[in-house]
Amino acid sequence: MQPNVWCLACCSRLASTRPPDPVMPSIFTRILAGQVSGQFVFRDDLWAALLDIRPVSPGHALLIPLYETQYLADLPAPTLAALGDRLARLVRAVKTASNADAVNVVINDGPAAGQEVPHAHLHAFARFPEDGKRMAWPATPYAGGDLNIWADRLRAAWR
Ligand code: AMP
Repeated sequence: MQPNVWCLACCSRLASTRPPDPVMPSIFTRILAGQVSGQFVFRDDLWAALLDIRPVSPGHALLIPLYETQYLADLPAPTLAALGDRLARLVRAVKTASNADAVNVVINDGPAAGQEVPHAHLHAFARFPEDGKRMAWPATPYAGGDLNIWADRLRAAWR
């Protein structure tokens, strides 16, 4: 699917092969464009980090690409190439500012995964021992030869 392409300076559509999407521009694009207020931690020409208004723990930050697309894998190569550096620096900042033992990094990549804002982003929030915040979902061992089957499927899908 061809993602929408937005100019964040003027927040207008530059190119799209599909009709306007009523949920675009996202709230994050409007914050990045200065139309809605946000508490920025940092910003460069590819990525910005801002505080989540409903934090899991104080200092919960969102790492958001300036390029607007819903899914992480649809981001342009330069944006993806810079992700590791920006994420590591954000994790370090959250940890240092919170004096935290640990940090969860979470991405909800699509509505079925819990994505509310259809603009790719990563969450980073501080964790402490016995903080009562559980990120638990049911996990079960593979049956029979399913481990091998799924490894083959993913290798075949790798590109
Ligand atoms: P997700 O469910 O992964 O799409 O997460 C979206 C996050 O965006 C939620 O944690 C919201 O609290 C956060 N959020 C929504 N609107 C704003 C806003 N105006 N400023 C900062 N964070 C926001």
